[in-house]
Amino acid sequence: MARYIGPVCRLCRREGMKLFLKGERCYTERCAIEKRNFPPGQHGKSRRPKMGGYGVQLREKQKVKRIYGVLEDQFRGYFGKAERTRGVTGETLLQLLECRLDNVTYRLGFATSRPQARQLVRHGHFTVNGRKVDIPSFSVKPGDVVAIRRSSRETAAVLHALEEVKGRGVPDWLEFDAEAMSGKIGSIPTREQINLPVQEQLIVELYSK
Ligand code: SF4
Repeated sequence: MARYIGPVCRLCRREGMKLFLKGERCYTERCAIEKRNFPPGQHGKSRRPKMGGYGVQLREKQKVKRIYGVLEDQFRGYFGKAERTRGVTGETLLQLLECRLDNVTYRLGFATSRPQARQLVRHGHFTVNGRKVDIPSFSVKPGDVVAIRRSSRETAAVLHALEEVKGRGVPDWLEFDAEAMSGKIGSIPTREQINLPVQEQLIVELYSK
């Protein structure tokens, strides 16, 4: 599946908030939001467009896509699935995105950012229920166990990320086992546990037009 490969700090500046796409750097003063919190581009500093309903809805959708590193077609697919599922569509959409394997490995602390988690998954460093899975969009379900492959346990990037997550913490819906370097999906996350500053209802309104 395709992915965005341009400069990522521009994405945060466009959304006017930290999307945490660069790992450690996002927590330092080198973060572009700390230094230049205005939209990218020649007129970014001088022009702040007034946004109406559609603009606000569109930005909310872009924000969520960028946080999870998903492009439009795939995002539409998630939305369609959320619509067909019983429950609150916006919340279900976020739950589907949270259950992506790349996001789960990030949440467990095996990577410092979702883009890095995606790369580690792509490179085959993880197993799900004992079997190697290298598809970032693979959807995990309650009871699944995500683990670092034995041969990848000494990977510098992973060891470094595990140190860093001690400050970030692992969400309640995941049961992390430091000894086994694995994590069990305890349950589907609730909206509160997802803990993202997004208004998913605006995305539902956008796609309902
Ligand atoms: Fe976004 Fe991180 Fe870049 Fe800051 S350092 S602008 S949070 S990607």
